[in-house]
Amino acid sequence: MKKLTAVLGTGLTALAGSSVIRAWNYKPIPMEKADIEDYPVDVDKVLKHLAGAIQCKTISTEDDLTTDWSEFDKFHDFLDDAFPLIAKNCEKEIAGKASLIYRWPGKDPALEPMAFLSHQDVVPVAEGTEQDWDYDPWEGHCDGTYLYGRGALDMKNHLICVMEAVESLMEQGFQPDRDVYLLFGHNEEMISATCNGAQEIADTLKARGIRLDSTLDEGGAVLKVQVPLVIDTRLSAIGIGEKGQVNMKITLNTKGGHSSVAPFHSGMNDLADTIKDLEKHQFESRWLPFMSELVDRVARYGSLPVRAILVNFPVLRPLVQFVMTKIPEAASLVRTVYSVTMAEGSMQPNVLPQRPSITVNFRPLKGDSIDDCERHVREIIRYPDFELERWNEKEATELCSTSSRAYKAIEQVQAGMYPGHVAVIPYLVMGGTDSWHYADICDNCLRYAPFNVSPALLKTTHGTNERIPVDCIQDAVIFFREYCKLVSARD
Ligand SMILES: [Zn+2]
Repeated sequence: MKKLTAVLGTGLTALAGSSVIRAWNYKPIPMEKADIEDYPVDVDKVLKHLAGAIQCKTISTEDDLTTDWSEFDKFHDFLDDAFPLIAKNCEKEIAGKASLIYRWPGKDPALEPMAFLSHQDVVPVAEGTEQDWDYDPWEGHCDGTYLYGRGALDMKNHLICVMEAVESLMEQGFQPDRDVYLLFGHNEEMISATCNGAQEIADTLKARGIRLDSTLDEGGAVLKVQVPLVIDTRLSAIGIGEKGQVNMKITLNTKGGHSSVAPFHSGMNDLADTIKDLEKHQFESRWLPFMSELVDRVARYGSLPVRAILVNFPVLRPLVQFVMTKIPEAASLVRTVYSVTMAEGSMQPNVLPQRPSITVNFRPLKGDSIDDCERHVREIIRYPDFELERWNEKEATELCSTSSRAYKAIEQVQAGMYPGHVAVIPYLVMGGTDSWHYADICDNCLRYAPFNVSPALLKTTHGTNERIPVDCIQDAVIFFREYCKLVSARD
């Protein structure tokens, strides 16, 4: 017995020892660092330009006839004045109603061009909330710490910083090897707009036989993660794809009538059953390969105890996947999710509903198609007499490789800017972006906004007091500049 205990003890000690050694060696994978040029960024000038951009009320609407196009004209004129070198060196054209295509010619026309994407449009300020703002949402007021205004985070900040970066490269006499496109759609915020600007741009390029090496759009974000004794790093989450979306309206055919002759169950009961059934029977979770890379990259920046656990991640993976399905924010990464967002009964209090309905918004995960979503619904609903209508269909995109030149360039620039203190991770964008429309002409549609903005501040996007911290502007311009230099190079 003593002998057995001794053997067991030695075994466990050896195991623990080897775990500690493995955890010790489980460190960030060294990333190649870009040389970051020490060329000044005139932050005051960028802020002035951002304010000028915000002053153009480029609000998109579903129907072209109700859009105030003069605001888009004003914005285009503003860009010409604010960025004279871009106006001089780029070919500019309008696609669709007001989408912009700038082409900065490279030295070698045989190379596939690179592109920066942004959308020019913003959402309106909700009626009745104008007074809640600390400053006029259409002024671009800067109080020294933040610049306020509609579009300050989504995404005139991005568009203006890309323009600043390109303008300053031109100022320095830089000339790209490959063409650099700046592609700015005009109605990203309107999923169901009659003519999508980004699609018109992509179609224009496609008709010319152009394939893009890569695109960089909004989507992924910078996150500072500081949890004492667990992790302390900066995460640059690069959107390598986006989930799909579709709306489905499910209408039950039920018995109507006068509410004074009250049945035991009205059609609303059947509707409630349907909602409960849908919530109960969720999609199966799936572990897409990029998720392992995501966890691995983050884990390597953890403290030693954290690494000691996560070095064994392949064994723990099924458990982690299960736990993720219990956390709404995490569940979206591992399965198709959906929410019942609208419901309708009858039109009057004393009328029993004859055609009660619900609307369900789906976000399919890569691997589940929109048809799969419909099949799922049809299998679940227990009442056979129903109709199903679907609209605003967007399939989930392909996922881009994390070994493309463009992805590597992001890693290199971030590693050069924040040596030893940044984890670049692949990520899945939950909402929609203009990048979706470029799938036909580009395999590397990356989504990353290099602005260090806290999650709390990000919540002001589309809301009251949308604002951007002044101190994240300089790094964003530097990022775009260095990224442009790397990706526009021959190799
Ligand atoms: Zn946006």
